[in-house]
Amino acid sequence: MQKGNIGVTTDNIFPIIKKFLYSDHEIFLREIVSNAVDATQKLKTLSSVGDFKGELGELFVEVKVNKDAGSLTISDRGIGMTEEEIDKYINQIAFSGAEEFLEKYKNDANAIIGHFGLGFYSSFMVSKKVEIITKSYKDGAKAVKWSCDGSPEYTLEEINKEERGTDIVLYIDDENKEFLEENKISELLNKYCKFLAIPIVFGKKKEWKDGKQVDTEENNVINNPQPAWTKKPSELKEEDYLNFYKELYPYSEDPLFYIHLNVDFPFNLTGILYFPKIKNNFEIQKNKIQLYCNQVFVTDSVEGIVPEYLTLLHGVIDSPDIPLNVSRSYLQSDSNVKKISNHITKKVADRLQDIFKQQREEFESKWDNLKIFIEYGILTDEKFAERAESFVLLKNVDGKYYTLEEYKTLVSENHKDKDGNIIYLYATNQEEQHSYIEAAKEKGYDVLLMDGQLDSHFISRLEQKSEGKIRYTRVDSDVIEKLIAKENAKQVDLNANEQDALISIFSAQLPENDKNNFIVSFESLSANSQPTYITQNEFMRRMKEMSAAQSGMNFYGEMPDSYNFVVNTEHPLIKRILADEKEQCDKEVTPITNKINELENQRKSLQGDKKDSDLDATTKDEIKKIDDEIASAKSEKKSIYSKYSSENKEVRQLVDLALLSNNLLKGEALSAFIKRSIEMM
Ligand code: ADP
Repeated sequence: MQKGNIGVTTDNIFPIIKKFLYSDHEIFLREIVSNAVDATQKLKTLSSVGDFKGELGELFVEVKVNKDAGSLTISDRGIGMTEEEIDKYINQIAFSGAEEFLEKYKNDANAIIGHFGLGFYSSFMVSKKVEIITKSYKDGAKAVKWSCDGSPEYTLEEINKEERGTDIVLYIDDENKEFLEENKISELLNKYCKFLAIPIVFGKKKEWKDGKQVDTEENNVINNPQPAWTKKPSELKEEDYLNFYKELYPYSEDPLFYIHLNVDFPFNLTGILYFPKIKNNFEIQKNKIQLYCNQVFVTDSVEGIVPEYLTLLHGVIDSPDIPLNVSRSYLQSDSNVKKISNHITKKVADRLQDIFKQQREEFESKWDNLKIFIEYGILTDEKFAERAESFVLLKNVDGKYYTLEEYKTLVSENHKDKDGNIIYLYATNQEEQHSYIEAAKEKGYDVLLMDGQLDSHFISRLEQKSEGKIRYTRVDSDVIEKLIAKENAKQVDLNANEQDALISIFSAQLPENDKNNFIVSFESLSANSQPTYITQNEFMRRMKEMSAAQSGMNFYGEMPDSYNFVVNTEHPLIKRILADEKEQCDKEVTPITNKINELENQRKSLQGDKKDSDLDATTKDEIKKIDDEIASAKSEKKSIYSKYSSENKEVRQLVDLALLSNNLLKGEALSAFIKRSIEMM
């Protein structure tokens, strides 16, 4: 028997492996199984080029748990190792600068394993003793057994082994007993080895017999050695892509589209990405893409490798050129990774463009589901945005789809305002904004439906890109005549007292509270237009929406919703209310108005053209007294109007109707409205 010390320059690597690599213990299995797969593939290659002339036999890797012995064995029938090879590949490991590196990456087992080519030694993360029992494929090779208990000392001896290949026997240590559980191993094999290129056998297939699960004769192969992405696109049918999707995500709905990635220059990359079908926006999940390196699962957190918006996609990416065994921060600055990321963006955009060009109907039918990915891409990735320009769609309230270019052609004449701006009208809720949509349609305008989660951001971007030439306005943000102002607004033909009266009359009936805030304003519209409207300022509303989409509360988020209550002074009903108000209130109001005028004149002469700060104390006091009197006269006037309007069913009806068409009439107010409507019939 030969004894020796493993060629480690730092005193003892094993305590370090154990101590530092606590986060990812489970990846030892991936490392050992993929070594076995490599050894098997090497033998296949040797055989195919004629360097190995023996029988290959059935080639698979087998994983066995032996609970009694406390061991886990991974066996292959690959090339095996001679004594010299063990010495070279296992005993001589050089760790230059080991400690420094380990300290830096102590939580990143992938980085450590990758840095040192430490795959095999990761077994010591979970084992108190490891044995290699191996026999090389080479003629006349003698079988050997290498054994090491986690100290730098190992033993190496000749043994009897009939079959070519390698058994790695791990004697699992006390802290890691879970790796002796069949379920655990099964789970890990499923996670890391599902698509390895050589069949991996774990136990026997089971069947139900007499109400119990029993083993059959058949080997239980846990992997699919030839997953779809390793094949050529020309070998695959639509169905194969769907089936593979089901294999990856058994419980998901069919995806919208797939993209087969297949590059061999300037780097190697294969994979299939899917646009998942999501039922609602809450379902969006990141990190469903799985990253493989030569069919070995590495990770399912792909940030830094694919652009942020693509993390919403599903599928697999396989590349031996992504330096997987390094830390994330390194990954993100790696130039290869950047190239790969750009390439994927280009591929995804090209594929979408192809589908759009060749199967526009299909593309449109999936647009509603696809939209969130594409808008997200446009908003976060300039390269993608450039490419997506030609296939991003706008949908109108009638369910028709247009490209940006098409839509511009469609509406640019009709939607031009008097200053030459093109106004795109949109709705965010077809039900709630129904009356506004109808009014716009009646005018011959087209209305877009922008009801997506990202639409307010998306609209802002589109506006910016148009350099101010195109403005998006929600259908309810102004009266129809002013949404797209074709001519200068007509002057409102009311004097200050009349305006004052109407403002007081309507304000008194509007539901002011800390959530809603109304401003009464006047428009001289046509007599056929509605007498009263409620509109919401586009800018304020959008600011609120965007801040809500971002996070938590902030300045705009905390503001109440601000509405305009617009009174159409040309409408016969308004004229009637004004006339009636004069008749009912003037007797009471005129003296007060006169008094206010008088007080205001007094105040003016007291103040002269002096600034407040230049006034003497007595004058200041007198002015203060007058101001108080004015205020109380005004409030007296207000309460007269308020009393008047509370008894005027027409006023209340007009307020309620305007509220109703904005979904602002609820609860008690709604019941009162219904009752009053019946009374008035
Ligand atoms: P890496 O796989 O990155 O080279 P490892 O530490 O995992 O590093 O393995 C070191 C070497 O040991 C391998 O390159 C290979 O030559 C040899 N080896 C490991 N496992 C086996 C096996 N099951 N069969 C044959 N050779 C193996």
